[in-house]
Amino acid sequence: MTELSASAPVSTPQPGAAEYPGLDAWRDLPVVQQPTWQDSKVYESSLAELSSLPPLVFAGEVDVLRGRLAEAAEGRAFLLQGGDCAETFEGATADKISARVRTILQMAVVLTYGASLPVIKMGRMAGQFAKPRSSNDETRDGVTLPAYRGDMVNGFDFTPETRGHDASRLVRAYHTSASTLNLIRAFTQGGFADLRLVHHWNKGFTANPAHSRYESLAREIDRAVRFMDACGADFEALKRVEFFASHEALVLDYERALTRIDSRTGLPYDTSGHFLWIGERTRQIDGAHVDFLSRVRNPIGVKLGPTSTADDALRLIDKLDPEREPGRLTFITRMGAGNIREKLPPLVEKVTASGAKVLWVTDPMHGNTVTSPNGYKTRNFDDVIDEVRGFFEVHKGLGTFPGGMHMEMTGDDVAECLGGADPIDQDAFLDRYESVCDPRLNHMQSLEMAFLVAGALAK
Ligand code: PEP
Ligand code: MN
Repeated sequence: MTELSASAPVSTPQPGAAEYPGLDAWRDLPVVQQPTWQDSKVYESSLAELSSLPPLVFAGEVDVLRGRLAEAAEGRAFLLQGGDCAETFEGATADKISARVRTILQMAVVLTYGASLPVIKMGRMAGQFAKPRSSNDETRDGVTLPAYRGDMVNGFDFTPETRGHDASRLVRAYHTSASTLNLIRAFTQGGFADLRLVHHWNKGFTANPAHSRYESLAREIDRAVRFMDACGADFEALKRVEFFASHEALVLDYERALTRIDSRTGLPYDTSGHFLWIGERTRQIDGAHVDFLSRVRNPIGVKLGPTSTADDALRLIDKLDPEREPGRLTFITRMGAGNIREKLPPLVEKVTASGAKVLWVTDPMHGNTVTSPNGYKTRNFDDVIDEVRGFFEVHKGLGTFPGGMHMEMTGDDVAECLGGADPIDQDAFLDRYESVCDPRLNHMQSLEMAFLVAGALAK
């Protein structure tokens, strides 16, 4: 891990600095994975603009989500969180956003119906524009340039111009998030997510085993809905669904500039998204990311990889959730299929013994990344499934609740992860590998995963 310098000094007044000076305490702490912006004038003007733009989410929605996650932490709901590893500006099209939202809605229906549990639907969307990297540089054919850090920082094209860190991209990330959220809100509030359209969500996707399994489940739901309709039930409530936005809070200047003091509660909220998480590479207990996120009211996630100790987890709880408030803190474990059965139990045991009520979520993607023989970053669907199974086994063994899953997925018919019921092989990568970062489950693999998890939850 390369330590980058402390953040650049910023002269633009930041919202809420007078009421909550602690919001800027992170600027004096060690910080990793931050861009080195190439033009300080553009940096200052971009932060000034972001600071004056309207919030992307309303603090009241953030509070609702905290309540929903508290339910999941108590075992009465399940969190489904999914989306691209890295969203791109170019990829923020109606078709792609709609396919992703529909896939999440489909997965949620499978889970709700199969497990008879409310499912909290959350996109890794509308803000997932920054990526932590294990190396600052990338070398191709003897040429070395800065690594791609997500569209919020630089571009993917391998040229010196695009790979420079351009702070005007922070503003573009905001606007792209705003238009993505606008479409998500339109879909989920305007009738598209109505449960009576449960078949319709399957339309346009490639027919495959998971697709037809979904179709028969949708028929059952349809029958139940028609039965209730005939009984005179009121379907107003089925028309709208709650859908929350989340991303990794990585570029702290962006998160800080979008932090606002809520007029209802007088407290700071990071209004760039409802839920924010701290990545495996930025969870240092005395580091800037943990400090900054400890000071906002949003529900917070922390990724825990295979090197995490129970002591790390307990210290993170003390810092991020000192009040032990259910819903405030989610641990997203990404141990790897080969590690989870051994590494997860001591964490869960000690955290439970401490009296903290955290929400446990599995990310079966990031501990299972491999390179295919033909050179693509990929994951075996079997490993992904094995980690999910391990997660359920561990919680069952300890009597704790496996409260959610965090997936890198898309609604598109891409070929990025190997295997599945209609198996993807590495030759398919040549034409259908689209991710600019980590490989995602495609539509079919996502549905298949939902059926598997529904089965595990129902047991
Ligand atoms: C990610 O979620 O894309 C990611 C980089 O995860 P992690 O921090 O768990 O490595
Ligand atoms: Mn990723």
